[in-house]
Amino acid sequence: MKFNCLRCGQCCKWHGYVRLSEKEADDIANFLGMELADFFENMIILTADRRGISLVENEDGSCPFYVDSSPPGCKIYECRPSQCRDFPHKWHNPGKTCPGLRKS
Ligand code: SF4
Ligand code: SF4
Repeated sequence: MKFNCLRCGQCCKWHGYVRLSEKEADDIANFLGMELADFFENMIILTADRRGISLVENEDGSCPFYVDSSPPGCKIYECRPSQCRDFPHKWHNPGKTCPGLRKS
């Protein structure tokens, strides 16, 4: 299936975990110039099964790194977690098809 991101931001505004590894958390903290301890305290939660970590989310479910301004996009695009890199090629939310995917 062909893909062309329309930068609509839909995928960054869903409730749900944005899982990441500790190495990815370290990379993002470095990218943002934040102390790792501060990054974990303010931007990271433990997943409910306590087996992993996720980015926090805003009340409306959006990712705190998504910016709606012009041009819209991910503030940490260069070091976004692999879960984000894998979308929509390796996974997508049923019922919420990425508008950038086309059959032909
Ligand atoms: S939902 Fe699809 S088209 Fe929209 S920003 Fe995400 S990847 Fe791009
Ligand atoms: S880290 Fe970036 S790509 Fe991933 S959900 Fe947040 S804004 Fe979207």
